[in-house]
Amino acid sequence: MNEVTEKVYQKACQLDPNQKEYLQAVGVFLNSMDKIVDDRPELTYHKILERVIEPERVVMFRVPWIDDKGQLQINRGFRVQHSSAIGPYKGGLRFHASVNLSILKFLGFEQTFKNSLTGLPMGGGKGGSDFSPRGKSDAEVMRFCQSFMTELYRHIGPDTDVPAGDIGVGGREVGYMFGQYKRLTNSFTGVLTGKGLSFGGSLIRPEATGYGLVYISDAILKGEGLSLEGKRCIVSGSGNVAQYTVEKLNQLGAIPVTLSDSNGMIYDEEGITLEKLAFVKQLKNVKRGRIAEYKDKYPQANYIPRDKQIANPIWDVKADYAFPCATQNEITIEDARNLVNNHVKYVGQGANMPCTAEAEKLMMDAGVLIAPAKAANAGGVAVSGLEMCQNSMRLAWTKEEVDARLKNIMTNIYQNMSAAADKYSEHNNFIDGANIAGFLKVADAMLGQGYV
Ligand code: NDP
Repeated sequence: MNEVTEKVYQKACQLDPNQKEYLQAVGVFLNSMDKIVDDRPELTYHKILERVIEPERVVMFRVPWIDDKGQLQINRGFRVQHSSAIGPYKGGLRFHASVNLSILKFLGFEQTFKNSLTGLPMGGGKGGSDFSPRGKSDAEVMRFCQSFMTELYRHIGPDTDVPAGDIGVGGREVGYMFGQYKRLTNSFTGVLTGKGLSFGGSLIRPEATGYGLVYISDAILKGEGLSLEGKRCIVSGSGNVAQYTVEKLNQLGAIPVTLSDSNGMIYDEEGITLEKLAFVKQLKNVKRGRIAEYKDKYPQANYIPRDKQIANPIWDVKADYAFPCATQNEITIEDARNLVNNHVKYVGQGANMPCTAEAEKLMMDAGVLIAPAKAANAGGVAVSGLEMCQNSMRLAWTKEEVDARLKNIMTNIYQNMSAAADKYSEHNNFIDGANIAGFLKVADAMLGQGYV
């Protein structure tokens, strides 16, 4: 970092020394900002970097709910309203035992630049709870969602803050929260995205993050004279993003060979075809089962349980491309070494911040092309933005129309981050390119709005 960015980073470290994920995201972002601060001295004069790393507002609250045994349970709820410079706060809700303020601040921060990259008028936010839906009954999940919304509703609204899903929050949870919001406010508005189709959801929203990841990957690879056709792909996770990444990879002729969850991974050398994916969707989304059960149905596949003491074997599978789609920091430096040694040429980040900073640097230095999350997984929020448009207009677009808009947005993101990389950093440094292209629009809006 240079003198200006280092000063901003040190201040962030002093303020929140224990927020490691947040400081990691800020550190990677500020490294990219090194390349523009000399060109744009007004950004330093008006302390844009210092302001943009600080959330506009953070709400933290108690979420009491009754489990099926009649016992009172208490969880913690959060909403980080990071930036409203270019539109209402927009970003998902995560329900997972690991959720804390550091993780949600990093996600809200990243979301701000991701949303800017989509070209749609959306600010950035993120929220959630340390509640885990895994192993809970439908009734427990509903009671939790209702209690969560009973506090959250006063902080959100269709022109203020529009949450969506993320890890642990899919159509079921969004539906329960929407129902409670409607009941509390007596209004039927587009306050959440990722809703069911019968009450204002958009076609292609469930598919959008995975599809968008594959669309932008296809564009990047073609730009390098490469293609997806016939290429073996590692995909981690087995939730929303992983499933639709596998689907689109199949449709474009690639061969996804892995899926995982926090207990382990499956490796199917013959490829996870659309037929096998239909089984996975049923297993995960309807039966809420574990990926280990894939092997019961397809015995030729290997199941390897996760041993957290050693490097994750999923990143040691021989493949051409890798698509981390589970969670943050799932690719460590040891995993990155394995990917490089196996000559993996491209990493498309479906999950948010899936690589540690050291892992990312090692792969960049080795010439691996990296599509950073804020660009590569922006398809989800882009279609959420389109859902907001349809809700405002009281219209529903066809699947083909939404898909075409999604593809167009992902292509534009590729072109913008690529142009910013060439102008300010180096060719194909998409990490710098996405940070800079996403930031400049937010920065200009902040400059125009005075000291707020
Ligand atoms: P889901 O809850 O649908 O799936 C998450 C998957 O990742 C599950 O297989 C889960 O396994 C695994 N996972 C979660 N946490 C961990 C962990 N700590 N260690 C190991 N595995 C883990 O979430 P999504 O698919 O929606 O989200 C995946 C990633 O994509 C996240 O980083 C999210 O922020 C990002 N993303 C999602 C978007 C969306 O539209 N859904 C949009 C943009 C980004 P298990 O069941 O064992 O927990």
